[in-house]
Amino acid sequence: MARTPGTEIVELASGIYARLHENLTNAGILVGDHGVMIIDSLRVPSFARDLYEDVKLITDKPIQYVIDTHSHWDHSWGNEVFPEATIIGHQNCYDEMLDVEAQEIWLNKIVNANDPWSEEAKTVQITPPNLTFDNKMSLYFGGRQIDLMYLGKAHTSGDIFINIPSEYLLFTGDVAQNKGVPFMGDGYPVEWPETDAKILEIGADVYMGGHGSIGDRDSLKSDKEFIDIIVGEFKNKISDGQDLETASSSVYEYLRKDFSGWRSFDKLEDSMGYIYTKIKNDM
Ligand SMILES: [Zn+2]
Repeated sequence: MARTPGTEIVELASGIYARLHENLTNAGILVGDHGVMIIDSLRVPSFARDLYEDVKLITDKPIQYVIDTHSHWDHSWGNEVFPEATIIGHQNCYDEMLDVEAQEIWLNKIVNANDPWSEEAKTVQITPPNLTFDNKMSLYFGGRQIDLMYLGKAHTSGDIFINIPSEYLLFTGDVAQNKGVPFMGDGYPVEWPETDAKILEIGADVYMGGHGSIGDRDSLKSDKEFIDIIVGEFKNKISDGQDLETASSSVYEYLRKDFSGWRSFDKLEDSMGYIYTKIKNDM
């Protein structure tokens, strides 16, 4: 199959594919009777079009649904490429995408990073979901029940999980990334552990995160463990009266023992101050 360099398409179940993109963002492809469901539209329109080209290698059915796992740019800024599709996301995802100030901050970061997609990012027409829900929504698609589930705040205020119970298969967005450290710099560390506990209750055996390779039940537990430890450690240091700098560096050193080999661990340092403040304000 001719593919975008760096991508790999893995069939997880009949008609359900993971499109993994090394070091970048993953997407899901589900083929239904009359159309295709895409999970995440990727970072800029050209990436969404590349994804669409890959879909065409699988089927000539049109894109019927786009599911936004959350509002972050690298998952949703390709939405505009699918004007005919129903774009589904959590109500909070919709609200975050319409938060002009927050989106400006992201755009500035992306443009200043001088990445191959930085220039194109300036042209993006942010296109929020046109169908939202609060707690759960079920679609009957391609002969299967597909549950879109909101389990509480975590990586953002509007993370959703796409559960395919008949296959014990779950799409977790950026909340759980198979031994990858999620971006925590605008998230909800206080609520995250509780949301993670609910993910495990779903009972999936296989999952695709927004980044990284396909995970299993054990790695899903490890992903939860990482969040439990970072939040628990920060709580301890804050209770001990440590200031931001002392707590951040001691928690970072502590995590390094077990998690330094995880994807994006090196980027965690930038978010430590944010996490400290979020947790402290809640105590
Ligand atoms: Zn994200």
